[in-house]
Amino acid sequence: MKIEVLREDITTFDVDAIVNAANKTLRGGGGVDGAIHRAGGKEILEECKEIGGCETGEAVITTAGKMPARHVIHTVGPVWDGSENNEDELLQNCYKNALQLAVEYNLKTIAFPNISTGVYGFPKERAARIAVETVGQMLNDDESSVKQVFFICFDKENYDLYTNILEG
Ligand code: ADP
Repeated sequence: MKIEVLREDITTFDVDAIVNAANKTLRGGGGVDGAIHRAGGKEILEECKEIGGCETGEAVITTAGKMPARHVIHTVGPVWDGSENNEDELLQNCYKNALQLAVEYNLKTIAFPNISTGVYGFPKERAARIAVETVGQMLNDDESSVKQVFFICFDKENYDLYTNILEG
């Protein structure tokens, strides 16, 4: 069993890397981004400032500060604008690039939040299907160091969607 769905606060989760749904400035924000920076402490923000910023669909890595996880992989999800601006592919890129970075760092366990489905307004079911499909494809690669992926759902709607998609 390589993929698991849980309803939890991602900041409390003990894995090699938790993924942050960051914004391009990497200076923190609301939602899961704010929660991660609050729980991790200023060390993460310092590293993010050094990195400078991140484009939509790209990913960067820092330590996890005071959180139980070892690293934070920050990725910037697309802002939903009615699917005309390549949002599907950009969201796919978030999952792909985060996993690729995990492989580069030889990480085994990684936890994703539901990227773009909060303030960025991506339709939840559409986002869940993209997440499950993209991660599933990458886990089939024998070369991958990643052995376990957790989808951490904060709200019940996302939890139910992911559970249904993975069971179906
Ligand atoms: P975005 O700007 O990419 O939409 P948000 O942080 O607004 O990012 O929302 C992304 C998802 O993260 C939402 O589904 C939201 O419910 C969830 N979320 C918010 N706080 C946490 C948390 N502490 N742990 C896990 N998920 C969270």
